[in-house]
Amino acid sequence: MNHLTRALAVLYPLAAAGLLRCAVISEQNGATGYGWFFVGCAVLFGLAVAHHAWHSGQLHADHARLERAARPPGPHPAALADEFAIAWHELETACCLTGWDSHGEQHDPDYCTLKDRTT
Ligand SMILES: [Zn+2]
Repeated sequence: MNHLTRALAVLYPLAAAGLLRCAVISEQNGATGYGWFFVGCAVLFGLAVAHHAWHSGQLHADHARLERAARPPGPHPAALADEFAIAWHELETACCLTGWDSHGEQHDPDYCTLKDRTT
């Protein structure tokens, strides 16, 4: 949504309210025909607001669909980088390579730094 469409989204309801005010004033002064004309114009602005909202939703959905289609297949690079960072952190904080590889089930007695705490 750019600046023009945002401005229109605000101006359409204001214009509809102004036209309804004109309809009321026309009716109070005996100009019923003009009153109904202004009501019709206000309804058109109301429809423009509804169409604007629907169109914005369509644009958003199309944008998301195109973005998904343009993405390369496979895992997202940022998610992959997170997975690598987590894996490196687990490896760096592991007591020993055997412990890291076995998820803490087994430990290498020659190199394990947590020999006294292992089960
Ligand atoms: Zn260990």
